[in-house]
Amino acid sequence: MLNNIDTILKTPSVAKELNGKFFYNKSIKNLSWLKAGGILEYLYIPKNENDLSILLQELIPGLELNVFGKLSNILIRDGGLSGLSILIPPEFKKITYQKQNILNVGSGILDKEVAKKCIDLQIGGLEFLSGIPGTIGGGIIMNAGCYGSEFKDILLDINFLDKKGKKIKLKAAEIDFKYRASNISKDLIITSANLKGFKKDSEEIKRKINKITKKRISSQPQGYPTGGSTFKNDKKYKAWQLINKLGLKELRCGDAVISDQHNNFMINIGKAKASDFENLGEMIIEKVLNEFGIRLEWEIQILGQNG
Ligand SMILES: Cc1cc2nc3c(=O)[nH]c(=O)nc-3n(C[C@H](O)[C@H](O)[C@H](O)COP(=O)(O)OP(=O)(O)OC[C@H]3O[C@@H](n4cnc5c(N)ncnc54)[C@H](O)[C@@H]3O)c2cc1C
Repeated sequence: MLNNIDTILKTPSVAKELNGKFFYNKSIKNLSWLKAGGILEYLYIPKNENDLSILLQELIPGLELNVFGKLSNILIRDGGLSGLSILIPPEFKKITYQKQNILNVGSGILDKEVAKKCIDLQIGGLEFLSGIPGTIGGGIIMNAGCYGSEFKDILLDINFLDKKGKKIKLKAAEIDFKYRASNISKDLIITSANLKGFKKDSEEIKRKINKITKKRISSQPQGYPTGGSTFKNDKKYKAWQLINKLGLKELRCGDAVISDQHNNFMINIGKAKASDFENLGEMIIEKVLNEFGIRLEWEIQILGQNG
């Protein structure tokens, strides 16, 4: 297997430059929102951008590389994920006010932290971030959104590191953002981005955030691990409506079940395996296809080998 992580760690001149944390065979269970899945062969949590750039410069081409934020949209199969996984931590970079309602935000910062900061800064238009549990980096890749707003609406430009650790900047206009997707290359790691809002009264921002929070609590399952929306909505129908129409609420695989509160959410009611979630999802896809002729598309990304 192609792997030079051990060599990197045994090379003192490089190892001393790396201030982050390395893990070997790290279980995903306590990291992912679904609390299920296998192990990550190698995991690195960088301390900062420089640190990450040094590591990337040392990696041999061809090494499988995956980048994650909060793992709120990821299911790693029970057989685990080989190669190197990089987890972008919240400390990665701070939120910095630029000018004219523009914020520079690190890719590891939680979306909801940015929304909260906008109250003090009196920046409107970013309130929807309070409803998404992931990081800025994951949100950009997924073009995450809710209640009529999505990342593409607030993005000005994005800073990346490429696979060789070189800095690259792209304007949002150069990227094709679609519903819960973007064409950003898998070879690029987002390090920060400039987001733009507009001047708005703090109390109004607070009210909108509170409204979003209340709506989430009343419409989404609380207290169980979940991966949020399992499937993307169809052009005509919401995924939850199709599942609801079929009366599939009782369907389950092991401890993976469909939430009563939101039929497009799968929840882990105990010790669900990644395969339970994947099998449950595939069962729903098949039933919806047979009944309505509509093929639901996974919104949750599934990676790794079967256990
Ligand atoms: C309870 C719940 C509610 C949710 N509600 C919503 C919602 O309302 N709207 C919505 O759109 N989504 C929602 N989601 C899904 C999820 O939160 C979003 O997709 C989120 O943006 C993912 O961010 P993340 O940091 O967790 O990314 P991850 O899940 O870690 O990764 C997602 C993708 O982004 C890539 N990625 C992550 N960080 C980087 C980076 N720095 N550089 C390059 N690539 C990167 C990963 O490789 C992967 O392809 C919800 C999920 C849950 C659990």
